[in-house]
Amino acid sequence: PVRTRFAPSPTGLLHIGGVRTALFSWAYARKHGGQFILRIEDTDLERSTPESVAAILDGMHWVGLDYDEGPFYQMQRMARYKEVIAQMLASGHAYHCYCSKEELDAMRSAAEARGEKPRYDRRWRPEDGKTLPAPPQGVSPVVRFRTPIGGTVAWDDQVKGRIEIANDELDDLIIARPDGTPTYNFCVVVDDWDMNISHVIRGDDHVNNTPRQIHMYQALGAEVPLFAHLPMIHNDQGQKLSKRRDAVSVVDYDKMGFLPEALLNYLARLGWGHGDDEFFTLSQFVEWFSLDSVSPSPSRFDRDKLLWLNAQHIKQTDPRRLAGRVEGFLADRGVAVADGPVLADVCALLKDRSQTLVEMADQAEYFYRALTPTAEIVEKHLTPDDEARLGFFAEGAARLPEWTTEALSAYIKEFVKQQGVKMPQVGMPLRAKVCGTTSTPSVDAVLALLGREEVLRRLAV
Ligand code: GLU
Repeated sequence: PVRTRFAPSPTGLLHIGGVRTALFSWAYARKHGGQFILRIEDTDLERSTPESVAAILDGMHWVGLDYDEGPFYQMQRMARYKEVIAQMLASGHAYHCYCSKEELDAMRSAAEARGEKPRYDRRWRPEDGKTLPAPPQGVSPVVRFRTPIGGTVAWDDQVKGRIEIANDELDDLIIARPDGTPTYNFCVVVDDWDMNISHVIRGDDHVNNTPRQIHMYQALGAEVPLFAHLPMIHNDQGQKLSKRRDAVSVVDYDKMGFLPEALLNYLARLGWGHGDDEFFTLSQFVEWFSLDSVSPSPSRFDRDKLLWLNAQHIKQTDPRRLAGRVEGFLADRGVAVADGPVLADVCALLKDRSQTLVEMADQAEYFYRALTPTAEIVEKHLTPDDEARLGFFAEGAARLPEWTTEALSAYIKEFVKQQGVKMPQVGMPLRAKVCGTTSTPSVDAVLALLGREEVLRRLAV
C-alpha cells in the first residue's frame, strides 16, 4: 500500500517549498488510495518552537491538505529510537566511539594536509583481529553506524533517475550523541520504517542523506522505501527562495489575498506539468499527478502567473465564501460592512476584476463609505458643468419607480440622450461623485447595489 509523509522541522513558518512537497506527497497518496502522514521533526531543541508547530498545523489546515495519521512528534518517540540504537549495538551494526574533539580535529587537519576530505579514521570500529583501545575513563561515547567499506549504494530516484554513491564517500555516521539522544538521519529512518512509508517524497536538499539512510534500512532488515527528490524552487532571479528576500510562508499568501486552491494550483505547476493545462482543481491534479512527470530541474517562482491563477480561481468561487475573507480585509482597514449592501453581492460584482482578495477589498470599500476623489479626478470629471448635470441626474433618480440595475441602465441611457452628451460624460462623473474613484464595475450595477438612499445622499454632498 502507498504511504507517504510530510516531515517538516518546526523551525519557522510553513514555507511554500514545504507546501509543494506536502502537496506532491499528499496527491500521490490520494491518487493511489493510500495514506498521507504528518510528522513533526522536532528533535532540534535549539531551533524548534511550539509557535512553529502551530504555524505548520495552521498552514496545513489553510491549504486544506488533510492527513490520515499524525501529527506525530519525534520528541515523543525517544524511547523507540533508543531501543533501536541498543539493537544496532547488539547486532554489531553500530559501535561506541570515544574520540575526543581534539582527536577528531587532529584527524581533520591531517586529512586536509594530505589534501583529502576530512573523515573519521574508524579507530573505534571493531574488526576481526583488531584490538580496540581501552575506553577512557569518564567519557560518554557517541554511537556510530558501521557503514560498509568498499562497494556502492544506489537507488532509482523516482524523479532524478538512478543515483549511485561509493560507500567510501560516507563516514561512519554518528547516530547517538554522548547524552544518548539520536541524531537526525537515524530518527528519519526509524520513523519511515515504523510508519511503513512506501514513498519518501522530499526536497532534493536531502539527497545526500539518502545513501546513509539506505544503509541503515538494510542494517535494520527493513524494506527500503522508494525515494523521490523534488527540485528546489528559485525566485525570479534564479536564487534559492529566502525568508529575508521573498514571500515564502503560507501566511504571507493568506495576507496578500490568495485563495489556497490557487496557491496549490500554482505550486502543482512548479516542477510538474500536464500538457498545457494551467488552471485546474485539486481533484484534477490528483487524477493527473505522477512522479515521472516531475521535472528534475529547479523551477522559478513566477508571481504574475500565480496572480493570474488566483484571478481564475476567484472567478470560480462562491461569492459568499469570498465575502468571508474580504470582510476580514475590510475590517483591517476599519470598514464595517453591517450597514451597507450584502458583501457577497458586492463580491459577486467584483470577482471578475480582482486578482487578489486584497484588491477585491480595495474595490469593495466604496460600497461602505464614500471615498474622497483625488484632485486629478475632480479636475477631470467633477467640473462645475459635471456637478450641475449630476444635480439633474439626482432629481430624476429620486423619482424612478424602481431601483434596479435594469431600471438604472434605462434611466442613464435616456438621461445621456436628453443631455446631448456621450455615455462617459455621465458615467465617469457619477462614479467619481458616488464612489470617489472612476474604476468601478458597470455604474448601473454599482448604483443598484448601493441603494437609492445612499446614492442620493452621496450625490447631494
Ligand atoms: N525534516 C526535514 C525538513 O524539514 C525533512 C526530512 C525528510 O523529509 O526526510 O526538511
